[in-house]
Amino acid sequence: MRIARFSSGGSDPRYAVVEGAPGEEELLVVSGDPLFTPLNPTGERVPLVDARLLAPVIPRSKVLGIGRNYAAHAAELGNEVPAEPLVFTVPNTSVAGPGDPLVIPAWAGEELHYEGELAVVIRRLCKDVPLARVPEVVYGYTVANDVTARSLQESDRQWWRAKGADGFTPLGPWIETELDPADVRIETRRITGAGADEEVEVVQDGRTSLMVHDVAAIVAHVSQAMTLLPGDVILTGTPAGVGPVRAGQRVEVEVEGIGVLSTPFLAPGQD
Ligand code: MG
Repeated sequence: MRIARFSSGGSDPRYAVVEGAPGEEELLVVSGDPLFTPLNPTGERVPLVDARLLAPVIPRSKVLGIGRNYAAHAAELGNEVPAEPLVFTVPNTSVAGPGDPLVIPAWAGEELHYEGELAVVIRRLCKDVPLARVPEVVYGYTVANDVTARSLQESDRQWWRAKGADGFTPLGPWIETELDPADVRIETRRITGAGADEEVEVVQDGRTSLMVHDVAAIVAHVSQAMTLLPGDVILTGTPAGVGPVRAGQRVEVEVEGIGVLSTPFLAPGQD
């Protein structure tokens, strides 16, 4: 099942179950937030084309990220694969929705990188989760772009800005609650221009089976130190192929079985 958060006609954010084939999706509106209330359809249907999708979840407490979780990506930046998951925190103010433009901050320099990732959405309060019980605490999965100001990553130390600045964690287009995350494809496309002049480069093409620490290992590990709350999001790391994105380009991250997250990048003053 696909769960979206959306706005239509200027409404406050609402939630819906997404039904239908690509290009023909409909939003079956539900009352309340499915993470906290039983799924209760209101009977209203909104064509996806008439809605604006929002980040499918705004974590109330935290986003955790995992670094260097694909060996080929660790190697491309000259890093070793860490023996246990390398965890970092990102504030919830860094979350943005599908299609939301990211205005590249002047301080980010030339090396603003995309990182296509599978994101885990936590279902319920949990701590010290045993490996075998991780599926019970996962609500579903969405697509993330762990945008990174690469030139600041070393000096920032805590990556508060390099990965945590406003808009640096686009999520979407929705949460898929039935995905098996063991081996799905992650493809990132960098798109320049539009219409007949559009140039599409496939810049990342990986599979989640290449993760060093899989979803269960990550959730079990982080929950040994931090209580996880409903709506917390964990980014599971990026495959090889990271690289820069410039103002005027768009990045699409597609995770097989979920969908496509698209983020246009703009220069300051373009928004
Ligand atoms: Mg990352």
